[in-house]
Amino acid sequence: MLWIAPCGLNNCHAAVYKNKIGTFIDYSLLWIFKNNEDMSLFKTLDTKPGIKNDIPQESEAERVKCVVIGSGPAGYTAAIYAARANLKPLLFKGIQPGGQLTTTTEVENYPGYPDGITGPKMMEDLEKQAARFGTDIRWGIATGVDFSKPPYRVVIDEKQVVEADTVIIATGATAQYLGLETEDKYKGSGVSACATCDGFFYRGKDVAVVGGGDTACEEALYLAGMCRKVYLIVRKNFLRASVIMQQRVHDAHNIEVLFERNTRELRGDQVVEEVVLIRRKGQPDESEEIIKIDGFFLAIGHTPNSEIFKPYLETDETGYIKTIPGTSKTNLPGVFACGDVQDKVYRQAVTAAGSGCQAAIDAERYLGHLGG
Ligand code: NDP
Repeated sequence: MLWIAPCGLNNCHAAVYKNKIGTFIDYSLLWIFKNNEDMSLFKTLDTKPGIKNDIPQESEAERVKCVVIGSGPAGYTAAIYAARANLKPLLFKGIQPGGQLTTTTEVENYPGYPDGITGPKMMEDLEKQAARFGTDIRWGIATGVDFSKPPYRVVIDEKQVVEADTVIIATGATAQYLGLETEDKYKGSGVSACATCDGFFYRGKDVAVVGGGDTACEEALYLAGMCRKVYLIVRKNFLRASVIMQQRVHDAHNIEVLFERNTRELRGDQVVEEVVLIRRKGQPDESEEIIKIDGFFLAIGHTPNSEIFKPYLETDETGYIKTIPGTSKTNLPGVFACGDVQDKVYRQAVTAAGSGCQAAIDAERYLGHLGG
C-alpha cells in the first residue's frame, strides 16, 4: 500500500531530500518512503514501531562504535560531536526525520539565527553538518533492541541488526493532538503544539489552549504575556495542574478558563478563525459555542518515543527515559539518552541540542574508559 499526500510535512521533505518523496501518514502506525531512483527501497511498516521487540536471528550484524537513533536537534548534535571525536557514528533518521521541528514554521529562539530560520531548513543544515564530519546517516527506524549485554543490538526496520558499543537514544517525543480533521487541515496555519515555538506569531491576537495540566497552564501563561486574550479549554470541571499553576492562571487578567468544553471543529478561510466547542457534552443541557480565535494550541500531553527501550531502561510513569541528573547516562553503561525522550520540562531545540552534545561526550568518555 502506498500513500503519497500533499501535506505540509511532506512538502518539507520533498524540498529537503531532492529526488525523493517521503510521506508520513499517522506516523505512529505507518511509515512509507519512496525513493524515485531505487524502487527496492519501498518499505511498509504496518504495525506501530516499537511494540515489537523481536531480534531477527538470521541477520548478520553490522558492528559500530556508536549508533545514534533519531534525527532531531539532539540526534544530529550528538552525531556532530561523536563524529568529531572519531566515534564514526551511524545515525538512523527514525520515524520523523528531522524531528518535531519539521512540523513548525519559523524558529526564532535558537541562538545564532538573528533573522530566524524555518524548522526544516535548520534540520537540513544540522544533517549536513553531521555528514560533514563523517556521520553515516541512513534512513531507518529502530523497531527493537536487545540491551541484555554489550555490544548492544539495535534492530532496524525489523530486519537489519546493528551491534554497537554505545547507543545514543534521541527518539524524541510526540505531541498529542485531538485527532480532529480540521486540526490537521490548519497545522502550521493556526494550529500548533508549542506555544514557545509559535506564540510570537500571535502577538496582540486571541488564542485558545486545550488542556488542563501543567503544560496547558504554562502555555496559557506564556501566551498571556503577548496575546490579547487566551481561552483555556478544559474538558473537565477542574484543572489537573499543580495548585501554583492554577493560581497563576487564575491571577492572569487575560486568561479565561472554559471548563467542561470539548472541541468539535476549527473553522476559517485558509487560517484558523474560530473554534466550535461543545459545552457539557453528553449532558441534558449540552450546547454549542463558537469563539473567534487566531491560534489554537494543543497542550494535552506528549508521548516519549521510548517503547522499545522500556524492557531495559528505567523510565518514569509517563515513559520518559530516566538519566542521571546532569548527564545523559541511563541505568545501562554505554546507553545514553538525550533530547525530548528524557526531558519533559524544557523540550526546546536548544536544550535538546545541548543534551545531544552531553550524550556524545559521555559516550566518548565511556569508550575511553573501556580503552575503545
Ligand atoms: P497531563 O497529562 O498532566 O495533562 C494533560 C491534560 O490534557 C489534562 O488536563 C487532560 O484532561 C487533557 N487532555 C488529554 N486528552 C485530552 C483530550 N482528548 N481532549 C481534551 N483534553 C485532553 O500532561 P502535561 O503535559 O500537562 O504534563 C505532563 C507531566 O509533566 C505532568 O506530570 C506535569 O506535572 C509535568 N509538567 C511539569 C512542568 C513543570 O514542572 N514546570 C511543566 C509541564 C509539565 P483530563 O484532566 O480530563 O484528563
